[in-house]
Amino acid sequence: MTTPVLSVQDLTVEFVTRRATLRALDRVSFEIGPGEVLGVVGESGAGKSVTGAAVIGLVDPPGRIAGGEVRLSGERIDNLPAEQLRRVRGKRIGMIFQDPLTSLNPLFRIGDQLVETITTHTDLSASAARQRALALLTEVGISAPERRIDSYPHQFSGGMRQRVVIALALCAEPELVIADEPTTALDVSVQAQIITVLKRLCRDHGTAVMLVTHDMGVIGETADRVAVMYAGRVIEVGAVTDVVRHPLHPYAQGLMGAIPTLADTAERLASIPGSMPRLSAIPPGCPFNPRCPYAYAPCTTIRPELKPPGLRAPAVPGRKVACHLYDPALAPEAAAA
Ligand code: SF4
Repeated sequence: MTTPVLSVQDLTVEFVTRRATLRALDRVSFEIGPGEVLGVVGESGAGKSVTGAAVIGLVDPPGRIAGGEVRLSGERIDNLPAEQLRRVRGKRIGMIFQDPLTSLNPLFRIGDQLVETITTHTDLSASAARQRALALLTEVGISAPERRIDSYPHQFSGGMRQRVVIALALCAEPELVIADEPTTALDVSVQAQIITVLKRLCRDHGTAVMLVTHDMGVIGETADRVAVMYAGRVIEVGAVTDVVRHPLHPYAQGLMGAIPTLADTAERLASIPGSMPRLSAIPPGCPFNPRCPYAYAPCTTIRPELKPPGLRAPAVPGRKVACHLYDPALAPEAAAA
């Protein structure tokens, strides 16, 4: 079996406040293979961005990783000293954020920023790095890169800036790219172009992608597999075609029902009653139980573990769900038997 590019096992992140210790991530586990795009999806507050930040060791205090491990191509990185982890972030993990200006320095020409990143993380000379920067700008769809490479970020449109950020994220040939809501700030027409560029480049370079988004349309267009998060936990994971078309978890069913399609009318959009619990008020058992139309006795006391469905769904490799309805030992029919 190939070693996953990213393996996250039981990752737990806590925020220690004066009143309580709040658990923002609760034993989150998933893997991403070479050249694979994993979409991480959920409502605001589900823990998607904290997961991305924890993987790269950038959880802001008072947050801290309280358990679990993160491996990059088999090598544990969550326990590295800060300086070593900073080098891993620069070379082996590329990052794309919602706002391109988070990654680009407005005071420097984009060519200088690309060349500096390339020379810092590779053995290329400055002139070879400039050639590589030009090639990358062409790859991300910047026309006439010889004329644009010496421009400043403010001389580009939002979509063009995000293309430059993709070039910057890929210029050290990283094994993994973490893209956190990379298209949310862009016009709809530009979103599709950026997603196409990101997907093509990662496929061509064999780069694994963790794509964090609340936008199921982007997931459907881009991801190979999807992990659905709720209240700091992964509640369903599987191939995007399975999870989007036939979600198993009641929360995922509500979330997928809420994707508008061309044929939908406002009346037909499903919605999930209630809202995501605050970190200080995550209910025991299944955190979705107050909102779940199928909740029954064990849901309020026993935490459902993420595992392959043993009932009601065919066993498909890689598919897992955290819901008692699919657990032969805890499903309602088991209690009735
Ligand atoms: Fe609903 Fe219970 Fe399944 Fe949670 S475990 S999603 S409350 S049926």
